[in-house]
Parts: sequence; C-alpha cells; structure tokens
Amino acid sequence: MARPQKSSTAERPPLLGAHMSIAGGPAKALERGRSVGCTAIQMFVKNNMQWFAKDLTAADLKAFAAFSDPPEIVFGHTSYLINLCATDSITFERSRLALRAELERADQLKLPFLVLHPGAHVGQGMEAGLKRISESLNFVFSALPKGRCKIALEVTAGQGSAIGSKFAELAAVIASCRYPKRLLVCLDTAHLFAAGYDISTAKGFWNMFAEFEKQIGSARLAAWHLNDSKAGLGSRVDRHEHIGKGKLGLAPFREIMRAEQFKRIPKVLETPKGEDLAEDRENLAVLRGLL
Ligand SMILES: [Zn+2]
Ligand SMILES: [Zn+2]
Repeated sequence: MARPQKSSTAERPPLLGAHMSIAGGPAKALERGRSVGCTAIQMFVKNNMQWFAKDLTAADLKAFAAFSDPPEIVFGHTSYLINLCATDSITFERSRLALRAELERADQLKLPFLVLHPGAHVGQGMEAGLKRISESLNFVFSALPKGRCKIALEVTAGQGSAIGSKFAELAAVIASCRYPKRLLVCLDTAHLFAAGYDISTAKGFWNMFAEFEKQIGSARLAAWHLNDSKAGLGSRVDRHEHIGKGKLGLAPFREIMRAEQFKRIPKVLETPKGEDLAEDRENLAVLRGLL
C-alpha cells in the first residue's frame, strides 16, 4: 500500500524568524523564537562579545535537545570579535581558536551551520587578507576532521576594511579553501545594499541574484538575513532598520518571501528589539503580509 505522500514544499510554511538571544541558556533562544511563531532562528553559541566561554553543561544540552516544538531550523552566528585575517598576532591566534571552539559548541547543539563575517584586512590589503582567511579556515577545519557544522560566509557592508562585500571576494575564499564542502554563504539584505548592490527594486534584486548565481551559485545559499537599511546604497555603512522603514523599502523582501526557490531557505531578522520582542512580531507580520 502506498504511504501517504509527504506534504510537498508548497504546503509547508516558509522558514521565517529572527535572531534570538541565548541569555539564560541556549534553550531560551528556542523559547523566545517559539513565542513569536518563528519557524527559523539564528543564535550565538556563547556571549558574542567575549572570546571564550565556559563549556555548555549537560543540563544546557539536554534542555536544548529536549525542547518541545522548536523552530524547524536553528543555526548559529559566530562572535563579532573573530577576525580570521587579523594582523595582530594575538587577535589572529585567538580568532582561530575561538572559531574552532564555537564550531565544537555548534556541533554539541547540532546546528547545521554558523554564519561568519569573513574578516577585516586592517590595512594589509585585500589579496593578503583573502589568503589569510582561507588559511585560517583550513586550520580550523583540519583541526576538526569529524566536525559537522559548516560555515556560512556572510556578505558584508564593506564597512572599514571588511572583506566580503563583493561576491568575488567570497568566491575567492571558497576557491582557495581546502574544505569547500564545508562552506556556505549567507546573504544579508542591508549589507548587500550598503555594499552597492541596488536591491531596492524587484529588477535590481534579481540582477543581484543572477550575479550571485554566476559567482557563487545558489546551492551554497544557507540563509537570508532580512534587514532594511538605515544607510544608503553603496554607503558601506552597516545599520539595520525595521522592515519597510529604511532605504530598501518592501520590494526585495517581497521577492524573497514569494520566490519558491527561497521558501526552504531560512530567513531571519536582525533588527533592533526590546525584551518583549514586540518589534519582531511587527516585522514578522509585515513579512508574512508580503506572501
Ligand atoms: Zn552577521
Ligand atoms: Zn546579517
């Protein structure tokens, strides 16, 4: 007898949610996500302003694994301190060790990938910076031969000497890393716009995505960060704004929410909010309203 067919992609809800705080333990992020109806969330795997953290306890891991009705996909974001191409030797070493430790924590939590800002070349130049980032990724991945968690390189606004504001830069890191199967990419709408990709119209959005397809390929697209931008096109300034309230308007969000090809790609907000998550509820309602 034929089994009842699994529900097709078309019938499942879009993977949509927000970045959630882990204050109080990793399971709290799931609880916060569930409270505003997230089907996807992003979280840090430790305090993101500290280099290292105490190990996750057995109780932390149990509460996380046993959480009932969690968002369908939960992934991580690495600490903002990490710079895989730092020129200062202490920061450089710490960055590699911190990334390795965060990947181990992510594996304990069974997260599929961690989003990472590639790095900032801090004056050494783009070429040298790109090379150092690939070497650092080789170092980290080779230290974790059995690691399962992947890294999703995030497109950046290009603020300061940040690397990764052009698809060609992300492609170069992937091409020179010895572990390309462990690399994915995360696209942030605010970063794309500030980096100079004019996605404020449907046409501009799809031009950008055609470029992404050509340089990197949609098979590597791990996640969308849905943020409007306070900063203008090509400003290279990274300032997130509530959906529809910034320089992007609703057009790119409408395309992302409606496109069948992005339905099963997690989409998370990283917009400002208070502890009651009221702003998340509002932004999520605006996004759902675009469907
Ligand atoms: Zn980020
Ligand atoms: Zn982002």
